[in-house]
Amino acid sequence: MAAKGDMIYAWTTDSGVAKKAECGGAVTTLLKYALENKIVDVVVAVKKGFDLYDAVPVAITDAKDLDQTAGSLHCGTLLMSTFIQKYLDGAKNMKVGVVVKGCDLMSLIELGKRNEINMANVLTIGVNCGGSVNPIQGRKMIREKFGVDPDKVTKEEIDKGQFIIEYEGGHKGIKIDELEDEGYGRRTNCRRCKYKIPRQADLACGNWGVIGEKAGKATFVEICSDKGADLISKAVSAKKLETSAADPKGIEIRGKTEGAMLKLGEKWRKKEFTALRDNLWDFINKETSRCIKCYSCIEKCPVCISTPFEGRPESYMVRPGYIPSDPMFHLRRFASISDSCVNCGQCEELCPVEIPLALISHAIRVEGDNAYVPKLGAAPYKN
Ligand code: FAD
Ligand code: SF4
Ligand code: SF4
Repeated sequence: MAAKGDMIYAWTTDSGVAKKAECGGAVTTLLKYALENKIVDVVVAVKKGFDLYDAVPVAITDAKDLDQTAGSLHCGTLLMSTFIQKYLDGAKNMKVGVVVKGCDLMSLIELGKRNEINMANVLTIGVNCGGSVNPIQGRKMIREKFGVDPDKVTKEEIDKGQFIIEYEGGHKGIKIDELEDEGYGRRTNCRRCKYKIPRQADLACGNWGVIGEKAGKATFVEICSDKGADLISKAVSAKKLETSAADPKGIEIRGKTEGAMLKLGEKWRKKEFTALRDNLWDFINKETSRCIKCYSCIEKCPVCISTPFEGRPESYMVRPGYIPSDPMFHLRRFASISDSCVNCGQCEELCPVEIPLALISHAIRVEGDNAYVPKLGAAPYKN
């Protein structure tokens, strides 16, 4: 019997899933099992859309359709929580199984606190996340830095500190550090992220720490809740999944890898926040002066659940119809949401005039945590 706190290797017994899966196919198999056995009514996962750079969230009710969602897509601007909030009625009337990265999970929790999502109805299968890449930047990086036509790429992955591509005619990997020093690489919010293993999910799954003959063929699963333990036990009893205890050496390697990623996150925070600290107001005024008041940053933010200002009188500090926006338009937004910003990057990435909004909100969140959390108690998660 699996138990909360266990660390295991897990692999699927389904040859179709094994072929498509990123590692051991545990994630897809567990979701399939949950759907087939009515533990959940619907699964929210991700599948390839138009091309490799088009990661699309999907809601699936027929277990056999889940095979198309196996595998990891690193180029995308996804947030699974808002998908559940907007399109599945916040799981209020159905049980939802969902694959979550750290930012998906933090925003689910925030939406749960705001009664926008019923977390009691949500089964969360976490995936470790070293970061994702903006689709447009990803194509540019592959063309300019790798010297490869992005349309010829058949697989991309982030492994052992490298961004690796497979393409017609070969494969190539370049160190993430090198890419990021030159302005390519992961999304800027992912660089600053320090929530790499989503341990507030029911299960946290990844490849870090799978060594020996199981390397690449099993998923490392950390069992984080009784609900997660129950799902694993049932899937193993039904012979859908096989498991073994994780190798202690593998657990040690996994700890070191996580530690290295956290250090990298800290490095980026230091670099970006220090520059901001000296100059915050000027930076906000200058950057937000491009704003065309499209409201995308308000609509897409998972912690900002107020409806756009439509129909509401705006004050003389935020004059209706004026663009660029008055500074108070943004100052109010930063003041109201930054205390719970989860650094998902949605606001920034979807802003048509490329204002570094997530950088500002995240900096305010982290500086606030650093100043007050020691006095008030531990932060719920270190985003
Ligand atoms: P599978 O059975 O192949 O299932 C994978 C699931 O992930 C599917 O349900 C799929 O729909 C979903 N998925 C695919 N892309 C996304 C996405 N962009 N957002 C949300 N869900 C998605 N593991 C590590 O140990 N270290 C890492 O640094 C790391 N970085 C990752 C970065 C990203 C962007 C993603 C998506 C995953 C990352 N993982 C990382 C997790 C790893 O790639 C596998 O997902 C995990 O090991 C589970 O393997 P599996 O064979 O059981 O999954
Ligand atoms: Fe995500 Fe931006 Fe909202 Fe922060 S402010 S939670 S980065 S959308
Ligand atoms: Fe302004 Fe950008 Fe927000 Fe649109 S998304 S309202 S342009 S800051």
